[in-house]
Amino acid sequence: MPPKKHSTLMMIIQQWRNNNAERSRMTTPQAVAHCDEITKNMTEHQGGTYSSQAKSADVAARAKREPMYRCGPAISAVERQERERAEKQMQMKLAIERILRDGREQHDLENTKFVFAAFNYFVKNNESIYIPAEFAACLYSLKSGKTSTYSSLINPNRLICGRYSAAQDHTESTHQLPLPPYAMGESDMSRLYSNILEYLRSCQSDNPHGPLVVFTSTELMPVVKGCFRYLAFACDMDMEEVEKQQIHVYDIQYLFYVLKIEVMGMSHLRSNAINKCITDTLFEYDYFEYHSGISCQYHEDRDRSKYCTQSMVARWSYLFSDYMCGDLAIKPLIGKHLPPKQEPKFTVE
Ligand SMILES: [Zn+2]
Repeated sequence: MPPKKHSTLMMIIQQWRNNNAERSRMTTPQAVAHCDEITKNMTEHQGGTYSSQAKSADVAARAKREPMYRCGPAISAVERQERERAEKQMQMKLAIERILRDGREQHDLENTKFVFAAFNYFVKNNESIYIPAEFAACLYSLKSGKTSTYSSLINPNRLICGRYSAAQDHTESTHQLPLPPYAMGESDMSRLYSNILEYLRSCQSDNPHGPLVVFTSTELMPVVKGCFRYLAFACDMDMEEVEKQQIHVYDIQYLFYVLKIEVMGMSHLRSNAINKCITDTLFEYDYFEYHSGISCQYHEDRDRSKYCTQSMVARWSYLFSDYMCGDLAIKPLIGKHLPPKQEPKFTVE
């Protein structure tokens, strides 16, 4: 409710009542009746003084209200969210740098393992939950390239009421997987989530008590977090269990940048010309996008490899290798650092 405006009469009543117990006990109509008489006998100057006091009181009341975004939350709430987001972003960057520092200190950066992961989704129900359609993850190191892959199509059985059309629009323009109830793949969310957790744990067998970490593109970070959140809820996991099994989702593009700097430093190469803008451009250029034979069969058959999660994580592995293995004189292996050899589609006599 907007604050009450201060009128000239109100200011007169307020001052008339001040420090007078008998007048203070009067009801408002009684006070108005008394003060109405007073105002009639006031000079123009006295009335103007009260009028300007009323205006000042209005200005003071407005200044007390917290500024709001138009029809939205208070600016202070938005600023707090921004601060929290910046804090999380900083913590993530420090965590990525710590992983690389540990690798460097053990003289084993080449063998440091990273898990790349991606989700396709049908629809999101709000800012934080996405209903998954396909998942893929792979284990990568500079020395060995992409050494294992886990992928699955996902059938969540049903969508949220009223979001079917939005799901259809998103699906048709991207991965083109059939919508529930005709969706393909794993339909038992508990089994799927426990398989994913098992795969992630197997990827970090050398650090079994460490947190589970996956890397994905900046664009997919909310999707990957939202799909994991959906799976945890669909499995009816309690909050304590969710906390215990928490999967940290980090930005692969920041890793791409800092790892390149580390690798160049190890090889005594000057990295002054490298910045995040350059590495982001290179990452988003995605020059392995048109390689066939690296996506799942469904997307291979429909020529939709660009949107296949299995293809995405493979392309990221090839991109890392292509950009960094040369600096460390690592010999690229077909299928691990590079896409499998292309079958010639035609011959020229
Ligand atoms: Zn696929």
